[in-house]
Amino acid sequence: MLVIYLLAILVWALIWGFATRAVIYNKGYSDNWFWWGFFFGFIAFIVALSKGDNHYNETSEKPSIIRDTAFDKQILADGGWKCSCGRINYHYVSTCACGKSKTDVVAPVKTSSLSQEKQTVSDIEAVKKYKELLDAGIITQEEFDIKKKQLLKL
Ligand SMILES: [Zn+2]
Repeated sequence: MLVIYLLAILVWALIWGFATRAVIYNKGYSDNWFWWGFFFGFIAFIVALSKGDNHYNETSEKPSIIRDTAFDKQILADGGWKCSCGRINYHYVSTCACGKSKTDVVAPVKTSSLSQEKQTVSDIEAVKKYKELLDAGIITQEEFDIKKKQLLKL
């Protein structure tokens, strides 16, 4: 009778051991909780159930709440960049984990229309200078034409 009783306890303990271990593995932990379940049974099982999910979803296209922290802000402050997928990358990372490259995501800083206008004006001035050089016979018509095309982007 005692043997049956002990066997029942053993089976009971094994069930809780395997159940607790399964819960822990399913939550993404690599620890083996079998013996916790084996010795503490129901209590260990409840503790295992109450533990947070340890999975980090690599394929998730949306950033998790956990990742939107002051730490990410610090990365951005240090010259990091935010990908369109939501990941925060260090400044030295050229390609995001999702496959997009930094240059595809982060648009180059656009020069203002004012500075573009200034650039055009200085280009015209330069062409005038080259025209003077041409008239003075210092450069040839061909050289002048090349420079004019370059500067005025014709
Ligand atoms: Zn990305």
